[in-house]
Amino acid sequence: MLAACRVCARPEPELLHASTLEQTLTSESKLRRGRLRIHLCANCAHAMSDAGGLDDVAGYYGAEYDSLLESAEADDLYDLDAQGQPIYRSQIQLDTLVRLANLPAKGRVLDFGCGKGTFLARFQQQYPGWELAGCDVSERYRPFVEPVTGPGRFGVTSLDRAEAPGAGFDLVTMFFVAEHLVEPAATLARVASWLGPSGLLYLTVPNVMTNTIDAFLADHLSHFSALSLAALVHRAGLRPLVLSEHHQLGQITLLATADPAVTRRPATRLGGDLVAGYVEAIRAGVARWAECGARVDTFLKARPRGHGALAVYGAGVFGSYLALSAGAARESIACFLDQGPFKIGKHHLGRPILHPREMPADVTDVLVGLNPGRARDILAQAGLLDCPHLRFFFP
Ligand SMILES: [Zn+2]
Repeated sequence: MLAACRVCARPEPELLHASTLEQTLTSESKLRRGRLRIHLCANCAHAMSDAGGLDDVAGYYGAEYDSLLESAEADDLYDLDAQGQPIYRSQIQLDTLVRLANLPAKGRVLDFGCGKGTFLARFQQQYPGWELAGCDVSERYRPFVEPVTGPGRFGVTSLDRAEAPGAGFDLVTMFFVAEHLVEPAATLARVASWLGPSGLLYLTVPNVMTNTIDAFLADHLSHFSALSLAALVHRAGLRPLVLSEHHQLGQITLLATADPAVTRRPATRLGGDLVAGYVEAIRAGVARWAECGARVDTFLKARPRGHGALAVYGAGVFGSYLALSAGAARESIACFLDQGPFKIGKHHLGRPILHPREMPADVTDVLVGLNPGRARDILAQAGLLDCPHLRFFFP
């Protein structure tokens, strides 16, 4: 059980969901031993998991968490546009930053959780006058990052004690890092201390309101709402300039500044109608995904006699979660369907990943493992939505 909220320190967050499964899913769509428990703080509208979802957190990041083995491009690919051209996450983050922050020609930037330095390389093209630094959880990233930053500007940090190569930065970026942290309040306070006068923090996290599946990933310990992210930033002594749920589907985008006039706030009593509204929405969203297994079961039992094979559309976290939720029926999944160029032709959870064009003719039932906000558009674009012989399960 969790003793206190990771964001506002309010004791005894409510237990929202205790999975009956003995396996959990990671953000890399791998299955792992563990029992997931999701908690909710009604004081700051924050959902969080305890470490029970991962049986060995340090071992996971030390040895297994390796977006490294795939190419940098595979890790960075967000989507394909209408012409089938790749859209990269790092480019979206950079374009948003250019619009939001009026950055000068010179400065010093740190990408905290820089991975292989993909964002820093793009940033350098846009702002060639800036000095670059990066850090991440493993030495294995250094050979990728230092060619971008120059020698000595990559640092290894840990999940419980944040370290950076230097301080006094004009900009610190943190893309999809805060949800992994064991102590997000302490880490963010340290990150804030590395900012120079009027330095900026630019941060993204999954939005638990619009990307609720995030709460079911074992290595994501914090599941932020816009309210809990704002509370976290205030606690670190930063002043939010932009806090948006709309720049990108499923994520919260934050731009905050170091401001000497803002003092680090102790945990305070929050609450109020707005928090209560968010709390209710999180509760309903988590319950819906928690019941997914039962609904998949009902869908499969209602298959007409003589129906053909079962496919899962989406080999990412949504599709993997449906496969996990299907329980024993997972054995009847014939294949995954996905348009991702780095996935097609590989195997996932023991099943082949096929382009939708190559869907076997005997498939009649499809579990739709896509963000519900985009699922129908993607199926329509793949030419499947109007196929009269297909039955779809939407989570
Ligand atoms: Zn809280």
